[in-house]
Amino acid sequence: MAPDCLFCKIAAGDIPADKLYEDDEMLAFRDIAPQAPVHFLVIPKKHIQDPAGVTSEDEGLMGRMMRRAAAIAKENNIKDFRLVFNNGAEAGQAVFHIHMHVLGGRAMQWPPG
Ligand code: 5GP
Ligand code: ZN
Repeated sequence: MAPDCLFCKIAAGDIPADKLYEDDEMLAFRDIAPQAPVHFLVIPKKHIQDPAGVTSEDEGLMGRMMRRAAAIAKENNIKDFRLVFNNGAEAGQAVFHIHMHVLGGRAMQWPPG
């Protein structure tokens, strides 16, 4: 756990969240400011700053997070969805604990802003 990391605190249960899934290594919870009818985040419990901080040790975990995102989308009757990782402030990252956005329930546009 990194000091003063919001998502480490959510992962530890110190800050409440609307949880959709939890196991030993990851947590999925609804985004506090949803940008689509369904918008949740999947995070590792381990503190990794951003996608650029993923190491070979984390590769399996990242794949399991993606598979879990798809399973939760299906449970919520979302067939098509968008997965987003922001890396760095200019790309829109505001919380520096890696998180996968899962957005669905409306038509998406491309390119993103
Ligand atoms: P980023 O901009 O870093 O890619 O995404 C951070 C996301 O975390 C944003 O979509 C924001 O709404 C969400 N968020 C920030 N603080 C909280 C919080 O305390 N609880 C929850 N559930 N989501 C949060
Ligand atoms: Zn953290």
